[in-house]
Amino acid sequence: MTLLIRDATLVLADRVVPVGYVLIADGRIAAIGEGAPPDALIASAKRLLDGTNKVLLPGLVNAHTHLEQTFMRGYSANRTLLDWLKNCIWKLQSAMTPEDVALAVTLGLVEAMRGGATTIVDHHKVPLSRRHTDVVLEAADRLGVRLVLARAWADRGANAESPSAILDDLKRLFDEWHGAADGRLRIANGPLVPWRCSGETLRRTTELARRYGAATHCHMNETQAEVAMTLEETGMRPIEWFAALGLLGADFHAVHGVWLSDREIALLAQHGATVVHCPAANMILASGVAPIWRLIAEGNGARGVNVALGSDGPASNDGQDMFEAMRLAAYLQRVTTLDERAMPPRLVIEMATAAGARAVSGPALRVGDAADLVLLDFDAAHIQPVGDVLASIVYNVRGSDVDTLIVNGRPLIEGKRMLDLDEHALIAECRDRARSLARRAGVE
Ligand SMILES: [Zn+2]
Repeated sequence: MTLLIRDATLVLADRVVPVGYVLIADGRIAAIGEGAPPDALIASAKRLLDGTNKVLLPGLVNAHTHLEQTFMRGYSANRTLLDWLKNCIWKLQSAMTPEDVALAVTLGLVEAMRGGATTIVDHHKVPLSRRHTDVVLEAADRLGVRLVLARAWADRGANAESPSAILDDLKRLFDEWHGAADGRLRIANGPLVPWRCSGETLRRTTELARRYGAATHCHMNETQAEVAMTLEETGMRPIEWFAALGLLGADFHAVHGVWLSDREIALLAQHGATVVHCPAANMILASGVAPIWRLIAEGNGARGVNVALGSDGPASNDGQDMFEAMRLAAYLQRVTTLDERAMPPRLVIEMATAAGARAVSGPALRVGDAADLVLLDFDAAHIQPVGDVLASIVYNVRGSDVDTLIVNGRPLIEGKRMLDLDEHALIAECRDRARSLARRAGVE
């Protein structure tokens, strides 16, 4: 299949092309050009897509979420963190059947795709059985989106798994799913938090992941209390401890990184690790402000630490809109650094695209790469007239402006409509299913 998108504004890695075209052939980007496409190209294309008044950018990477939490929205209001976890989230999670997970994840993926994400990293917290995990991958396979499933685990504390069970299930997932569906599905090692994981299992799971060329993805330094726990137990701060265990590398994702010391920032930069910033969750859970501007501007590398962007789970956000995540990331750094030049739009967009793609070894908007694209409808009252395209993307665009979403060259959303899916039927089914889950779990 060849698809030609023409007359769109293109947001490329190094510049904005006011009017240009992108040709997709066999799932890959075959050509990118300025102005009108040559006649021969138009003649060769099986399908034409008109990009007038639309802005094309690389597909966004939601680098951290928990999709099963789509059935857990709204419970955090008016509760303390511990009350919320104990009396809602943990009860709901442990009562989930594979059918509950499948539906919650499908709805979560639809929301994430409508929010501009072509790649989603799901830190999967309910691997209660093989089916509980497989249904997540099956849902992503069916919808056509790109998914990295980071299989969460803890070998200490409540509901701990044995190291051998963790390693066996990880190995099974790597063997059965890593690279499946034309490379759209990937597996990552997903230790939950440092204080619930033993050093030995952290080391062994990371070694296993590296044998498959897979990443390790872990909540790090989210709250001050958590940093203190690791410090007391190991004599090191969490990132220092992980560095000592040999876990840091370009394949390591430190999710949150709110409370980081100068030495930890230097370690992250030295090892080329990624910090996944989740501004909405950091604000809702009152965790603090991650030093994102410092990570990017002052790290040891040429451009400091690679910072990607995530929504975090619907229980602690409560949405999956990547445009909202971009806007919040920009606002939060500006108001805390008191630097009005902090977080220019180009950089914020890079966090949601190139930095995320780097972290998950995903495609970019380059000739030869898999075609993961988003086309935004700019013909809207809350966007026009446009002073600066990049600023409009960060400050004006909402998920509902996603007109077309393409993964591996296949349109999944077109004209703001999910293709091959009865969205209303799905929503109705999820509404009933979430209600019965809450009843079964004894959560009001
Ligand atoms: Zn999380």
